[in-house]
Amino acid sequence: MSATASIARDAMSTAVQDAAVVELVDVTKSYPGGVTAVRAVDLRVGYGEMVAIVGPSGSGKSTMLHLIGTLDRPSSGRVRIDGHEVATLSDGQLSALRATRIGFVFQQFHLASGLSAVDNVADGLLYAGMRSAERKRRATASLMRVGLGDRLDHRPHQLSGGEKQRVAIARAVVGEPALLLADEPTGNLDSRSGAGVMTLLRQLHAAGTTVMVITHDRDIAASLPRQVSMRDGEVIV
Ligand code: ADP
Ligand code: MG
Repeated sequence: MSATASIARDAMSTAVQDAAVVELVDVTKSYPGGVTAVRAVDLRVGYGEMVAIVGPSGSGKSTMLHLIGTLDRPSSGRVRIDGHEVATLSDGQLSALRATRIGFVFQQFHLASGLSAVDNVADGLLYAGMRSAERKRRATASLMRVGLGDRLDHRPHQLSGGEKQRVAIARAVVGEPALLLADEPTGNLDSRSGAGVMTLLRQLHAAGTTVMVITHDRDIAASLPRQVSMRDGEVIV
């Protein structure tokens, strides 16, 4: 590589490191009836980070993750995700951003009960405008990545809790999102399955995905590279 190309490459990688995938500036979310769930939050998360969000029940963790995931709009303040100013996007543009750049994992798995594992995962690509055979091929690869290559045709009721969550993770990452958001992904799992899910999230992070995970497990939180603590709607660290 020439010196010029090498400098250009270094400059680019610095720019990517400096760019934030998540930027919240003075963000507040109030619900009708007067609950302020998130209060004046400033938060910046760089590409490639892995962050634990911790705090007592009711402290605003899920609300903040919903705002980051563009599932909800703030009452005030700025939300910038993957370079997009959320306030300037229409609902359709937000849906597109969500479908292509953000993956979600929830405590309750949220799999379609009538669909096989591979079809559940392939649904994560519906927005991408791919042929069904290509969606299925990628879904199979994603399930193999989470260690479920031998469960492709199983329906959710034929899978253990840990396996269901791994299908949900395969679906969340099949479109190679910039940002993976997980809300208590181990909350319904025994400790061994939970540890497996955390190992998987770490592997995805090591492969380059930005991961934000809400957890009430102090050991899990402490083991991650960065912790963001919430209390009464505020980020306190
Ligand atoms: P956490 O995830 O930390 O347990 P949440 O973000 O779910 O906290 O909730 C924060 C606060 O906002 C709580 O007081 C909760 O009752 C309230 N809240 C959450 N969602 C709604 C809603 N849709 N309407 C009204 N209040 C809500
Ligand atoms: Mg919550």
